[in-house]
Amino acid sequence: MQLNVLDKMFNMDHEQVVFCNDKKTGLKAIIAIHNTNLGPALGGTRMWNYKSEIEAFDDVLRLSRGMSLKASISGLNLGGGKAVIIGDAKKDKSKILMKRFGDFVESLNGKYITAEDVGITTKDMEYVRSQTKHVTGIPENMGGSGDPSPVTAYGVYMGIKASAFFKWNNDNLEEKTVFVQGVGKVGQYLVKYLKNEGARVFINDIDEEKMQDVATKYQVEIAPKNIFDLNIDIFSPCALGAVLNPKLISKLKCKIIAGGANNQLENEKRDSLLLSKRNIIFAPDFLINAGGLINVYSELKGKSIKDSMKQTEEIYNTTLEIFERAKINDITSYEASLDIAEQRIYSKQA
Ligand code: NAD
Repeated sequence: MQLNVLDKMFNMDHEQVVFCNDKKTGLKAIIAIHNTNLGPALGGTRMWNYKSEIEAFDDVLRLSRGMSLKASISGLNLGGGKAVIIGDAKKDKSKILMKRFGDFVESLNGKYITAEDVGITTKDMEYVRSQTKHVTGIPENMGGSGDPSPVTAYGVYMGIKASAFFKWNNDNLEEKTVFVQGVGKVGQYLVKYLKNEGARVFINDIDEEKMQDVATKYQVEIAPKNIFDLNIDIFSPCALGAVLNPKLISKLKCKIIAGGANNQLENEKRDSLLLSKRNIIFAPDFLINAGGLINVYSELKGKSIKDSMKQTEEIYNTTLEIFERAKINDITSYEASLDIAEQRIYSKQA
């Protein structure tokens, strides 16, 4: 098993993986530092009830690599990292556990900077912060940049508009049909942008109550069960990852996929190729959902929200560049974005 773990780490080219264990508090965590060529590795801490340690390990490797790519393609001087705490956030979390986790983050001397992610609250981050200053995404009332979701949604909106321009030579979304899957923090802000522009928006969410609330608040339609059999223009995955698999791709009738969820392709190479063969435009997730990271970076650099919105707006141009590059080189948009991101990371190697 140990060899397997090391193989996985080497295959995805991670710099360092730290296993954190503390019997007293019950803390079991993994911090993965994918790459620090461009700067300190930044990425949130997720607490999740993983089925196994290996599942947690795979998740942290994938997510931390995604952070390296996201920072690189957005032109930020940051590396990629991520942490996972193994356990049920509702039952296993405690103040002393979060503080202990903070000690482990501190032991890395700023090589890894953490933030909130799934299963972690602002209060938890306060405990982490009592042990280390290497924390970002601090609430506005504590002088930080606050919730990054509105900026993330703005970037996704830019990515959708750029995709529309590439497809129809016109980025106006009025009367275009858009399906937003998942109306959590990012999805809801996105719905607002789309609705303001006059798009016809369909939504769904496994949280029935939230879905009804968003439908009423923004006057949008709840998607029918057979939404993927319908001729919608744009599919925007804003829930969890790995939604795009061969089965779904074979039945999709949309022209564009552009959403906020991380790691949307179940298998990057296979599924991006399948989408390309079906002539469906795919806006790479790590590119268009980078607004939140841009916002956090601004916080670190002491810049304003206005600066982060301006930089996030650039996602429009970068998305178009990626599509053009993919077309010229006859590769998928995913491969084109990966090339650019990796080139910047590895050309900086000491
Ligand atoms: P969130 O937890 O607020 O929202 C996710 C929503 O998806 C929830 O309402 C949940 O009920 C719903 N959902 C889960 N599974 C679903 C399914 N199968 N079908 C329909 N709905 C489903 O999370 P968020 O912050 O809005 O993030 C959404 C996605 O965007 C995640 O993949 C996250 O990793 C990614 N992301 C978020 C940010 C950010 O700034 N918040 C930044 C980059 C990427």
